[in-house]
Amino acid sequence: MPQIIPQIEKNLHTSWQKDLREVITDPKEMLQMLNICPDDYLQHFKARKLFPVRVPKSFINRMVKGDINDPLLKQVMPLSQEFVITEGYSLDPLEEHDTVAEGLLHKYHNRVLMVVKAGCAVNCRYCFRRHFPYQDNSPNKQRWQEALTYIAKHSNVNEVIFSGGDPLMASDEHLEWLIKQLEKISHVRRIRIHSRLPVVMPSRVTNKLATILKQSRLKSTIVLHINHPNEINKEFNDALEPLRCARIPLFNQSVLLKGVNDNASCLIALCETLFDIGIQPYYLHLFDAVQGAAHFDVDEEKAKRLANEMLAKLSGFMMPKLVREIAGQPNKTPINLA
Ligand code: SF4
Repeated sequence: MPQIIPQIEKNLHTSWQKDLREVITDPKEMLQMLNICPDDYLQHFKARKLFPVRVPKSFINRMVKGDINDPLLKQVMPLSQEFVITEGYSLDPLEEHDTVAEGLLHKYHNRVLMVVKAGCAVNCRYCFRRHFPYQDNSPNKQRWQEALTYIAKHSNVNEVIFSGGDPLMASDEHLEWLIKQLEKISHVRRIRIHSRLPVVMPSRVTNKLATILKQSRLKSTIVLHINHPNEINKEFNDALEPLRCARIPLFNQSVLLKGVNDNASCLIALCETLFDIGIQPYYLHLFDAVQGAAHFDVDEEKAKRLANEMLAKLSGFMMPKLVREIAGQPNKTPINLA
């Protein structure tokens, strides 16, 4: 049988597992790589105790050297503000208590969210799951089996959302096994993969992954998570080629973050660049009020102003929906821009 995905030059991808082993976990080392003297920021490094630092080298390479305010650096730099306890903020802002089997959340009528793998290649400081007890939800084949049994018994579930952590932290072999099990459940029609890994560590997009998705009877989509146009570089764009060749629809969701992307020209540039490389802007999320990340919050009025400015300047099909997740709601809540 002919290879469905054209072979991309071997040297395009280094081994992603090697890149994963080499993620930077010491903020001092990260700042040194950026030619920033770490001595002025030592007091901030204590925030690693609250949420460890993890940043792939590829992502650091996209930051502007010498700029402590670089918008990519701000997303991963631990800060002492993380120790501030803010009223109205929570350890679990989405109240993800809808676990129906080990590592399986059934929040939406026809969709289940499966924690395919604990942990991420990058630890974004604003992550709404920064306090999530991954150790209690660490998936393995036995736990997946419980989730599969639940899905098989619920014929209203036609879409399975692979989540985490980051689901692409799972190996291609494990993903292939899981997808083959889901294929056996006749009412499941789609899988959706929510991942930031291809962005922060493009080597994760392997030909094998694209082939697995292409060959499955289940229709796959990938929802990427890109917040700033500087995250998009040639390495990332080239890495997407196997997915584009496999005709996997690519979407993007961004989080509106103070000091990172809270201006209209940045968001417009992001949407246009996404569209240029074949990624459909999908959601612009208001930040989830997770304890320790209040310094990223952009209030709703400002978010509406930004969205209206985007609406005026962007072609309609490039405009992401401004939404908020409200705990207990069966779907994301659109923000009325009027
Ligand atoms: S990649 Fe997503 S899940 Fe992982 S730390 Fe960042 S925001 Fe959280």
